[in-house]
Amino acid sequence: MRNFIGIICLLIGSNLLAQNINVVNLKCEYLINPLGVDVIQPRLSWQINAPNNTRGVEQQAYEIIVASSKTNIDKNIGDIWQSGRQASSQSVLINYNGKPLQSSAYYYWKVKVHSNKGASGWSSAAFWNMGILDNQQWKGKWIGYDSSFAWDSVSQWARLSARYFRKEFTSASKIKRATAFVSGLGLYELYLNGKKAGNDVLAPAPADYRKSAFYNTYDVTSLVQPGKNAIGVVVGNGRYFTMRQDYKPHKINNFGYPKLLLQLEIEYTDGRKSIITTDETWKFTADGPIRTNNEYDGEEYDATKELTGWNIAGFNENNWLPVATVTAPAGNLRSQMIPGMKVMQLIQPVSIKEMAPGKYIMDMGQNFSGWVKLRVQGKRGTRVQLKFAESLQPDGNLYTANLRDARVTDIYTLKGGAVEGWRPSFVYHGFRYVEITGFPGKPTLANFTGELVFDEMKTTGHLTTDNATINAILKNAWWGIASNYKGMPVDCPQRNERQPWLGDRATGAGGESFLFDNAALYAKWLDDIEDAQTPEGAIPDVAPAFWNYYSDNVTWPGTYILVADMLHRQFGDTRNIIKHYPSMKKWMDYMRGRFMKNYIVTKDKYGDWCVPPESLELIRSKDSTRTTDGELLATSYYYKLLQLMKGFAIISNQATDTVLYNELLVNIHKAFNDKFFNVSKNNYSNNTVTANLLPLYFGMMPAGKEKAVFENIYNKLAADNFHISTGVIGTQWLLRGLSKYNKPQTAYTLAANTTYPSWGYMVQQGATTIWELWNGNTANPEMNSQNHLMLLGDLIIWLYENAGGIKATNANPGFKEIIMQPEFYSGLQSVKAGYQSVYGTITSNWQLKGKQLQWEVAVPANTTALLCIPAVSIQHIFENNKHINTLAEFKIITPVDANGNIVLQTGSGHYTITATLK
Ligand code: BGC
Repeated sequence: MRNFIGIICLLIGSNLLAQNINVVNLKCEYLINPLGVDVIQPRLSWQINAPNNTRGVEQQAYEIIVASSKTNIDKNIGDIWQSGRQASSQSVLINYNGKPLQSSAYYYWKVKVHSNKGASGWSSAAFWNMGILDNQQWKGKWIGYDSSFAWDSVSQWARLSARYFRKEFTSASKIKRATAFVSGLGLYELYLNGKKAGNDVLAPAPADYRKSAFYNTYDVTSLVQPGKNAIGVVVGNGRYFTMRQDYKPHKINNFGYPKLLLQLEIEYTDGRKSIITTDETWKFTADGPIRTNNEYDGEEYDATKELTGWNIAGFNENNWLPVATVTAPAGNLRSQMIPGMKVMQLIQPVSIKEMAPGKYIMDMGQNFSGWVKLRVQGKRGTRVQLKFAESLQPDGNLYTANLRDARVTDIYTLKGGAVEGWRPSFVYHGFRYVEITGFPGKPTLANFTGELVFDEMKTTGHLTTDNATINAILKNAWWGIASNYKGMPVDCPQRNERQPWLGDRATGAGGESFLFDNAALYAKWLDDIEDAQTPEGAIPDVAPAFWNYYSDNVTWPGTYILVADMLHRQFGDTRNIIKHYPSMKKWMDYMRGRFMKNYIVTKDKYGDWCVPPESLELIRSKDSTRTTDGELLATSYYYKLLQLMKGFAIISNQATDTVLYNELLVNIHKAFNDKFFNVSKNNYSNNTVTANLLPLYFGMMPAGKEKAVFENIYNKLAADNFHISTGVIGTQWLLRGLSKYNKPQTAYTLAANTTYPSWGYMVQQGATTIWELWNGNTANPEMNSQNHLMLLGDLIIWLYENAGGIKATNANPGFKEIIMQPEFYSGLQSVKAGYQSVYGTITSNWQLKGKQLQWEVAVPANTTALLCIPAVSIQHIFENNKHINTLAEFKIITPVDANGNIVLQTGSGHYTITATLK
């Protein structure tokens, strides 16, 4: 009897567990709304959800089913793919491996996992839709009009009005589903029956139009109606028609006049299908309300010229022109596999001040990028002008010198009557202050709303400390990073530049990846970079290469390899490495073939860009003792990149390449030390922090010299009263370098400094983002973007990995295995760090009172963590008030490591750890 009850209990127990484990957050590739997937083997990911008190959950097997219809998936019929039970702990980025996928088809999928704590049931169904996989399947023609109109001007100050395209069609019967595939270059907005499709703005994402252009996919089922319908598309310039920048000698030429391609596929409930495409039957006008639009100068919208009803059926289009069929863009048309830009946050202005009659300055309280939405009522023909800037002059007027020749002005002309609402369609601005002129009456705060625009992505990281400066820096960094995501990472969002400079994001991309779910964006960027590669192998400094800078240095283009590594480490993604390996290798070969002499890379361009100048007025340091040798930078970076390429070769099944890489590593190591290492002084070159730090951090040191070289770094920092003397290059490794070589307190001092040069200095001066220069408020005005990211260096990585103690391991990337090793600093009592990894949320909240540590830890299901605690002894560590060494869920890995840590391994769960530290 007892046995019988036991068995029943067991059954009930396992059943309960089985119900408790479930699979959530199913994802296809990196798409939030998975439409237009144009890879033949999409990757599927999920997370496992277990109740808080379930510990050590590990996936042991999975089963995926993919169906061709909702009906089939609802019946758990996988007519497209049944993976069968796969013994595997992999739950992230699993390659689809079923029947060949068809263009524009919808697929439905579910997953079930078997874990050591029981099996889940089938997950709820998710879906994805395929893009147009083969160019032959585009049935329409590119349409446009390859000329300007009387009211346009095509010059350095080009003004080109937006083009409005329309077409009516009849839907034959009841609609089951309608999907629109659209590319409007440079930018477009699609309307069906007067309603905008989707909530993307500034679509599609920019591309290197010599090689690629993107289309977007919308599910427009709810917008198509039985009977008469109208499609309307308004097309602006974006980065396609770019006369505005053409006067720059280094600018890649204008790509042409705006153009449009659209394919609307309708499935009816009776099984019939129809396709509506762009062709010569469409009509257009350029005499609509958007009179001019370009990213740098702004948008002018004349509401008196509104084409009321243009995008609904029955509009009188007699005055409209027939479109021309135009040449397709030069590049390959691909689906935009990144979530589009959206209005991600609303910002209420904080003050409006009248400066002179009719002239007001409005303060948004925050520097950001996007636009201001206007609500206004007044007489027809009234012109309201909004001009944007990041800061003010001493007299309270806009400071625009740092915008160079970008005119950044939006003008709205009222149609009169009721309250009118408006925001631009094809421009964005980087600003905190707005000058308002021409407003009818007295503007109030209620007339304006700021809209922060960037690529749709989750904020994945939250880190706060009891140090207000560090919190403020991180907040500024969040705003800066968000502002500079524009379908590509740009350097700044405000002046006449806004270019995707590679060097700015070398390791920064990794820091950003703690704050934002940026995998899709950076994977797309790698494609942009490959697109920009020359046939010889050169990689430019800016990609997409809107600016023609092929300067053949190592540090900027090297970002290509560093970002691929970041995607692997932070997100567990190897596909980018495999995909880009040949072109990365080609670039490495190209650089070696042309610029390496006797194992020294002789070409550099930017040096350790933006070291803090010795005086607050200088833009560049004139002091040669602050400047690091370019050959040292180039060669050490090349060495670092070779190390990564070695790993990439193995991932890409090109292990034989490692022979060459190893040989090069040995030879470069020797040549580098022969050339730059001062044996008698144990330092490199002219002993700058960067000169010593790079070889140290990259492992180029002659054996046994690490400590001595590090001493020189430390002494230099001490001589600078523990302030930063590194530029964009050195700062990328600085804080981690200090922590690694046992000076975490120094890293903390630099992170928390408030005097020049430091991030905290910017905060003290009122910055709400990060500056381009350490002395951004006092140096040459033309070079001080107040919203740049490159000076962040490795600060964010260090805050999460070292101060927070959340770090992915190299062996099991993507946070499958987590090293949780917070550092403790005098002057800092607590850090609360949370990061939403691909497996789920990792938490590390610590508080230190004297030697007493209180540490809340959360480890997601299907991952393991190594907890490193510098406790007096294992007896001094408790979890939930129990001696940790008595708990089965903790395994002692190292009783005491070289740094005095006790290392314990644990599985998923929430833990409350207390310990007495040494
Ligand atoms: C850009 C930087 C860039 C640098 C390289 C600047 O104008 O704003 O972000 O990396 O040039 O020289």
